[in-house]
Amino acid sequence: IEFYPPKKDVDIPKLFKALERLKAFNPLFADVTWGAGGSTSDLTMELCTKMKNEYNVVPNMHLTCTNVVGDKISKALTDAKENGITNILALRGDPPAGQDKWEATDLAFSCALDLIQYIRKEHGDYFHVTTAGYPEGHPNAMKVVTEEDGGLSSLSPSELKRYSTSKNKETGKEEILVCKDEDYKTELQYLKQKVDAGANCIITQMFFDVDVFLQFVDDCRAIGITVPILPGLMMIGNLGGFRRMTGFCKSRIPKELDEKLMAFEALPADSPDLKAKVKAFGIEYCVDMCNKLIASKKVPGLHFYTLNMSSTTIAIVEKLGYVSNSIKTEEA
Ligand code: FAD
Repeated sequence: IEFYPPKKDVDIPKLFKALERLKAFNPLFADVTWGAGGSTSDLTMELCTKMKNEYNVVPNMHLTCTNVVGDKISKALTDAKENGITNILALRGDPPAGQDKWEATDLAFSCALDLIQYIRKEHGDYFHVTTAGYPEGHPNAMKVVTEEDGGLSSLSPSELKRYSTSKNKETGKEEILVCKDEDYKTELQYLKQKVDAGANCIITQMFFDVDVFLQFVDDCRAIGITVPILPGLMMIGNLGGFRRMTGFCKSRIPKELDEKLMAFEALPADSPDLKAKVKAFGIEYCVDMCNKLIASKKVPGLHFYTLNMSSTTIAIVEKLGYVSNSIKTEEA
């Protein structure tokens, strides 16, 4: 289960209430994200430490390595060690707010591979290191396929299964985006380099097409990546948030899902029970994904992006048959 450091202090108790409720389902660990450029470093560290000491939940602290100044990385790692945090999700990081494209600013770290190598060099086997994986390819490795390129008909069978569409911010037009086969291969080799450098586990970017994830797992295994691969699951909570998030991540939205969402979007925003209906649909969709993932026998677990809330994740895990060890089920 994953959390993010709330922007406002008043929301911190809500996070812990959600953690408390989810803890009843015995999660293996709980992630806390790291703001771009280390913007939430103190709070991320504080939340991880509190999770461990006061809630007895194993924290997995995210750490991004670019756009950071000075010795922030080495300090974050030594502080983590002092606080008994033993799990790190080692990342490159997203571009800072207001900047669309990412650019390396710190010569010491230009990508997650550099950070993983640094952690292993400085701290040996102390940390369990997780790395990010992208079943559809990282957005940086996606290309726009235009009509002049031949549009969809120019894509290979595997590209057709992986492509996504996204609205161009400037023109407002729908674009086809795809990580081409040769780029996808490069991405996988880079992922293998991260694992060979010492990553013990992979957590994936959110996805909504289970087949794309399962193909990714097969492709990883085929090139000798043997570490556990945890599927990143984002619930569809509200329509606007979902479209924003999937637009940013350039996620593939399967046709049937898109049609269902468009049907909701066509309804007047104030139509009765719209929010509840979207939420119920989102839960069913995620449960269905989870069931397919579990049936595939290719996942060692499920990783939920909770958005600091508990009710949706709980509804999903209960439908999957997980049983809470607590009788407390009121909403956080
Ligand atoms: P990398 O593994 O470094 O790869 C990024 C891309 O760069 C890939 O396409 C790779 O092939 C390419 N690449 C790597 N090295 C080179 C090179 N030398 N030359 C050219 N290309 C190269 N962001 C946050 O800010 N905070 C978080 O807490 C956070 N948590 C996340 C958790 C998960 C599970 C995931 C999937 C993402 C998370 N992100 C987070 C987002 C992440 O920071 C972005 O996706 C970022 O753009 C890439 O980070 P990475 O670690 O995957 O990068």
